[in-house]
Amino acid sequence: MSYQRPDLRLAPSPTPESQAFWTGGREGNLLISHCRACGHFFHPPGPACWRCRSTDVGPEKVSGRGSVAAFSVDRQPWIPGFEPPYIVAMVEIAEEPGVRLISNVVDVEPADMRIGLEVDVFFEDWTGLSGEEDTRVWIPLFRPVTH
Ligand SMILES: [Zn+2]
Repeated sequence: MSYQRPDLRLAPSPTPESQAFWTGGREGNLLISHCRACGHFFHPPGPACWRCRSTDVGPEKVSGRGSVAAFSVDRQPWIPGFEPPYIVAMVEIAEEPGVRLISNVVDVEPADMRIGLEVDVFFEDWTGLSGEEDTRVWIPLFRPVTH
């Protein structure tokens, strides 16, 4: 099954904290919030580390590799332009267990999905309904690592 870009995606509206996450894909980078005080990554982005309360936090580039921690296969056409079946997954980043992103896994048959599947990030460039450049985001999506 080869992935086809959907007709429509609900583009996120980045906050000051999540701006880096949604636009890192411009340079092909997955940027995850990192705490310089305790050294942990965390997601979703926020103004402070939830572990140690430090505000010495900022986006840091990670490999884009991860593994599937949980997933569901949607077979109903809930979203116009989004052809089922599609897979919604929690992807755990390779750098730190427990740091998970919710995204889609594509280029995989639903029957081949499993917990622990190794995946790699890629980005889909979307502009908000206004078409303004400052609404442009790069949505991180994942597909299986091919060895
Ligand atoms: Zn911390």
